[in-house]
Amino acid sequence: MKLANQAGRAVLVFDDSVADVAEASDGRLGPDPMSVFEDWPGFADWAATITAGTAPLVEEELGNPVPQPGQVFAIGLNYRSHAEESGMAIPSVPATFTKFPASLSGPFDDIEIVGGSVDWEVELVAVIGTVADRVSEADGWSHVAGLTVGQDISDRELQFAAGAQFSLGKSRRGYGPMGPWLVTPDELADPDDLALGCSVDGEIVQDARTSDLIFSVPKLVAELSAVVPLRPGDVIFTGTPAGVGFVRQPPRTLQPGQLLETWIEGIGTLRNRCT
Ligand code: ZN
Repeated sequence: MKLANQAGRAVLVFDDSVADVAEASDGRLGPDPMSVFEDWPGFADWAATITAGTAPLVEEELGNPVPQPGQVFAIGLNYRSHAEESGMAIPSVPATFTKFPASLSGPFDDIEIVGGSVDWEVELVAVIGTVADRVSEADGWSHVAGLTVGQDISDRELQFAAGAQFSLGKSRRGYGPMGPWLVTPDELADPDDLALGCSVDGEIVQDARTSDLIFSVPKLVAELSAVVPLRPGDVIFTGTPAGVGFVRQPPRTLQPGQLLETWIEGIGTLRNRCT
């Protein structure tokens, strides 16, 4: 299943067309994109009975498929290559911060460049489907509704100000593009091994595979849920691989006018213009 937010309504995506969840369910489900998480297993069972779209897919109308998560977890230093380029030790527990939910944005929204240290970070984003409270790694995937593409846009100056405040430095408005849709794990040949990357004006700057994650998606569900329950609609930005701008010599930053494209194999591509 591919689930999107088109013009603020939950829709199922079929190639170039969509089925509006509220219309197709005679008003029983939707239209709020977050309402599907009230009973994700029930929603998924119903969605499996819908096999074709009835309206065109309109990319310009797509918003964040999970626009109001209760909790947003984000993981730092979760690829060996990125820990090494940052000169940091490999963490023994997930290095966790948050992106405040109001910073999240849609797959084709603009990124407003503020200051001179705005950086890119392609990330696989996992979305929770059922409550996960002290679950094992072996059960981790069963609590995941689906996966989407994310950009953990970072204001490095703000991130490392005041001793280090990752959460605020990664939460400027619009600094969390997500989408273009949520893809259920069964749609992917191997959800633990997906190519991901991003480019700036067509130049590829990050290129890796999620099989290189230090803490995999099910491992993160286990580690995080050992501390605090994860709830339906919560999202986890799983960390970025090597190739970010601020550790380059000389450092690179995003500039107004540039086009940032971000992709994950089997899911899709974000396109965000810097303004
Ligand atoms: Zn990140």
